Amino acid sequence: STASKLAVFDGDGRTADGHLVPLLANVGGAKDAVKAAAAGAQGVGLLRTEFCFLERDTEPTLDEQVAAYKGVFDEFAGKKVVIRTLDAGADKPLPFLTDASEPNPALGVRGYRTDWTSPGVLERQLAAIAAAAESSAALVWVMAPMIATVEEAGHFASMCAAAGLETPGVMVEIPSAALRAEHILGQVEFASLGTNDLTQYTMAADRQLGPLAALNSPWQPAVLQLIGLTVTGSRAEGHDKPVGVCGEAAADPALAVVLVGLGVSTLSMTPRALAAVGTVLSSVTLAQAQDLAQLALAAPSAAAAKESVRAKLPILD
Ligand code: PEP
Ligand code: MG
Repeated sequence: STASKLAVFDGDGRTADGHLVPLLANVGGAKDAVKAAAAGAQGVGLLRTEFCFLERDTEPTLDEQVAAYKGVFDEFAGKKVVIRTLDAGADKPLPFLTDASEPNPALGVRGYRTDWTSPGVLERQLAAIAAAAESSAALVWVMAPMIATVEEAGHFASMCAAAGLETPGVMVEIPSAALRAEHILGQVEFASLGTNDLTQYTMAADRQLGPLAALNSPWQPAVLQLIGLTVTGSRAEGHDKPVGVCGEAAADPALAVVLVGLGVSTLSMTPRALAAVGTVLSSVTLAQAQDLAQLALAAPSAAAAKESVRAKLPILD
């Protein structure tokens, strides 16, 4: 309908047979958070903190950071807010963290790695997050972007513990992290799949290049297989940790069904996608979603995966 762009998602994310999949929002600051709450988001699955400071030449002060984060937390009292530490570099350079002369920025010092070249910034950000969380009623989880190894996950978890933050997690957006998910999730409490970067790094295709758009599809069976591996690792013996998706893939209703079929526990997306994703999800049972995930995994190409899944979702006609 013409109202679909403005539609409000009303209720809980769930399949036709009642399997709950909370639908969360991706936001870049307090203004977005207001829109996300109005659109019916059940919480925030990704707060991109670098978006709060894109124009800054210098590191924001503790007070500036606390105000920016609290502005989002306060829109979601009693709800989950997953805040991501600065993902500076590549497509999101921050002048105070990014070396503009790197030859391959997507493979460079970005995200968590800036802790090695600009020591102290991450520690101070975690202190600001802890202070903002302390003074708000949101349930704050904190995660690091661009984690590649088990060691990095463990180090991030210990930094969070030192700051008094109890629910550390990591983004799984580098293939090595997906392959080692079982061990990484031994170090942290949750993972969030960043399908934008996971696709870029799996397919070796710069996410910013138009001519590579077909390669850069989260429908690529190789990407879906890595997502499945991450979920399997999260359920390995000895632990059962939540794995969400916060990349653009979660905003594609047919792909969202596949992701649920692969076992992801939450979906986080641009607020305007919430209503459509919620509607399509409620049209299938969990078993049907699992069958569709198998169909997509078995497809010979991204295009074939998409076509075969969409053909089995009459609600999309
Ligand atoms: C992703 O990589 O999928 C993601 C959610 O993070 P960003 O798009 O901010 O890199
Ligand atoms: Mg990313």
